Amino acid sequence: PPRVLSGIQPTGNLHLGNYLGAIRKFVAMQDEMPCLFCVVDLHAITAKLVQDDLANQTRSIAAAYLAAGIDPERSVIFNQSRVSGHSELAWIFNCVARIGWMNRMTQFKDKAGKDRENASLGLLAYPSLMAADILVYRATHVPVGDDQKQHLELTRDIAIKFNNDFSQRIAASGLGREIPMGEEVVNGYFPITDPIIEGPATRVMSLKDGSKKMSKSDPSDLSRINLTDDAEAIARKVKKAKTDPDALPSETAGLAGRPEADNLVGIYAALAGTTRDEVLRQFGGQQFSAFKPALVDLAVESLGPVTAEMRRLLDDPGHIDAVLKSGGEKANAIASETIKDVKDIIGMLRD
Ligand code: ATP
Ligand code: MG
Repeated sequence: PPRVLSGIQPTGNLHLGNYLGAIRKFVAMQDEMPCLFCVVDLHAITAKLVQDDLANQTRSIAAAYLAAGIDPERSVIFNQSRVSGHSELAWIFNCVARIGWMNRMTQFKDKAGKDRENASLGLLAYPSLMAADILVYRATHVPVGDDQKQHLELTRDIAIKFNNDFSQRIAASGLGREIPMGEEVVNGYFPITDPIIEGPATRVMSLKDGSKKMSKSDPSDLSRINLTDDAEAIARKVKKAKTDPDALPSETAGLAGRPEADNLVGIYAALAGTTRDEVLRQFGGQQFSAFKPALVDLAVESLGPVTAEMRRLLDDPGHIDAVLKSGGEKANAIASETIKDVKDIIGMLRD
């Protein structure tokens, strides 16, 4: 059966990229199929072990989920470390995946930097844990930003290798099911996940550097619009955002080689629920001095209510904690079934 899983790391301030690339899609997916959304605290410690106030960071991601419109009655909201099945399946996937697969991951290369020998083993294994997050719920659809595409391909590779390596045992155990794989249908245990990466803002870029994605972990606060920014901060950051001296083109082809212009037009399109073409029909020929104030108004109008609701929710951490606890129980009920099946398939003795 179709099911959605996605998550966000509690590593800092949520930004417009997280909102447009992930959270807003999560909200929309609730109408399509059952959804689980987690705050991935086990992932958060891969790049930096000691996080400042992991508990409150976790609550603030959960608050953003709720404020944006994820309904805890319909969707399961929880923090990853509460459900031990993620770690258990990740270990098994560490033995399925190959070191070479991990070494090719661009996120690892970016985050490890030059001193790769000194990166945590967890940072290298990050995609294996992410595959476990998804497959422990046998999720079929994963809404994410473009930067996570390579990790989702690796999730498919892990599922395919597990299904292949254990094909006889899966068949013998009676736990196999029909898994659609491209044109054919195979007998296997884990589904082959579809990434959902669509719309005009799958990769929101830094406001300071059109070649870098907007990130929570970017040291420059001016590089991103945070979900907690007020109208004044949004106006200041958009005003300072890097642009080129030319007017906006009247067609998307004219954005080629203009990453900063492309980014701002993409953000506008995503916030307005339209396309780059449509935005350029409206603003083509105008200068950034005219476009930027319109973008500020739209951003303030779209984010303002979410920010206000997040603040209200964070005043009552008890409520957020209760949502995460109850979500954790629901998630655990699904995950523990998968872990039992996987142990049986591998041949591990269990109670
Ligand atoms: P970090 O810098 O700590 O990795 P992050 O901003 O990349 O933080 P994540 O928690 O790693 O955030 O990612 C959460 C979700 O947000 C993922 O689905 C990711 O693809 C999406 N996302 C992150 N940055 C962007 C961006 N700039 N544009 C669109 N989507 C994004
Ligand atoms: Mg990231």
